[in-house]
Amino acid sequence: MPIQKKELVRLLSYNPEWAETGLCVVSELGEIFGSCAVEIRHIGSTAVPGLKSRPIIDIAVGVRSFDDIPQFFPRLSELSYNHRSESDTENQIFITALKKRYNVYIHVVIHGKTLWNSYIAFCECLQSDEDVRLKYEELKEALASRFANDRRSYTIGKSDFVRRILRTKCDIRERSCGAVVWKKRGGRRHYLIIQNRSGHNGFPKGHMEYGETEAQTALREILEETSLSVELDTSFRAEYRYLVDGYIHKSALYFLANYSEGDFRPQKGEVFGIWLLPYEEALEQLDYEQDRRVLKMAEKKLSQLDSEKRGK
Ligand code: ATP
Repeated sequence: MPIQKKELVRLLSYNPEWAETGLCVVSELGEIFGSCAVEIRHIGSTAVPGLKSRPIIDIAVGVRSFDDIPQFFPRLSELSYNHRSESDTENQIFITALKKRYNVYIHVVIHGKTLWNSYIAFCECLQSDEDVRLKYEELKEALASRFANDRRSYTIGKSDFVRRILRTKCDIRERSCGAVVWKKRGGRRHYLIIQNRSGHNGFPKGHMEYGETEAQTALREILEETSLSVELDTSFRAEYRYLVDGYIHKSALYFLANYSEGDFRPQKGEVFGIWLLPYEEALEQLDYEQDRRVLKMAEKKLSQLDSEKRGK
């Protein structure tokens, strides 16, 4: 009996019908979303052969942008998919359906960003590492008997395990590109510093979308975050790495970019402030040593170019 009352937690032995249903849904969604979806995957426990699970088919749809998605709602609704807007978050659009008598949960997320990477990495780890799979099953069984009528506590109980596996067994890599943007004002070089949504001051940058080159990402992110159209100097490249949330190995690449016209405007919800500051003040505003190093490299290169010009 595949349909399970949503608040109950009953684990069933692995059933190959889960993979078949997952495949059908992936194919149907592929036809609906077309090229707006970069990749669609059956994820979660029902995608792991041999693992006991609640009979819910989880599907991740990796898209380039959420802006493209509302146009598909009418077609999704015709095919009995329900957009659960009350469960949407900043990082995910949530859709449910009943297919071949199974509850299907569809997680529409940005391809290549943290949520997508975590869903795929955890699922692939369960598929390939028997030891992790057995430990996860053991934990699920213990939680299911303790919280048989409390799905929320059951889910919370799993989350520490998931985080630990992501941190210790998965190699999640993300990459952002941007630029040190500068402008001559009153004969002096000024640099653009932004405060991003996590609250730190840095340079405009962002996640590389599928199919983009590094330069395309940098130009798009600068335009989105600041409204500025800039001229990019890709001969300057400064790159560093850092760890986000203890498990995402992130790299940031910065070019140099110059602009002479136009006013900057912070992107709503993403950028909390933008300042155009002389070198020393810009250096003081930056929160991370790696960013200060990048700015020093930029200032050095631009000073050299200035002296070369003066020398001619
Ligand atoms: P993006 O702008 O690339 O789309 P984002 O806005 O999601 O990314 P990040 O700027 O990567 O986020 O910041 C994510 C977390 O990493 C924040 O907690 C931030 O403070 C921290 N962080 C950012 N830059 C650095 C750095 N150079 N060194 C250490 N931690 C950093």
